[in-house]
Amino acid sequence: MTAGVPGDGPLAWNVAGLLADDPGADRVVQVDDVRIDVGEDLELAAPISGRIRLLRTNRGIVATGTLSTALAEQCSRCLRDIALPVTLRIEEEYLPALDLASGRPLPTDDEPDVARLTDHHELDLETPVREAIQLAEPIAPLCRPDCPGLCVVCGERLEDGVHDHPDDDIDPRLEALRGFTAAGDG
Ligand SMILES: [Zn+2]
Ligand SMILES: [Zn+2]
Repeated sequence: MTAGVPGDGPLAWNVAGLLADDPGADRVVQVDDVRIDVGEDLELAAPISGRIRLLRTNRGIVATGTLSTALAEQCSRCLRDIALPVTLRIEEEYLPALDLASGRPLPTDDEPDVARLTDHHELDLETPVREAIQLAEPIAPLCRPDCPGLCVVCGERLEDGVHDHPDDDIDPRLEALRGFTAAGDG
């Protein structure tokens, strides 16, 4: 196994050499400190890193591996900014776009939805990785599983446990009611 040849994009590798190998041959490529655009309303809090195995099959190349990164999110309970670690499992099959020997385009009509290598025999994982990152975003992110959130009275974070409110924090309408009750008692 040798390192893959870097391609045009941050997550692209030239696999012409691997395509020339027999089925079963593979390469392992290292992903280090990669940043990609992950779409609107989503931001990475850490670069993408991990390893991808590129396996020559009798049809094309299957890319498998695990990548890790972190999403810049906000805790849905206490509204604190957090970096949420995510693990991405990648498994994507790529078929050639061109015949390696002749350079002629291969017919793609029979499998229009499958991922294709580029015309330069590059395997570009950016789109599946972006989609995996978008799918990894939780609906309600939490800074920690038992985040107590915000105090309903004063809006402060409850992370330090219960806190008292001085009397002058109390809603003036309640204060008036309390005064009325006291007067009635006397
Ligand atoms: Zn929180
Ligand atoms: Zn409070």
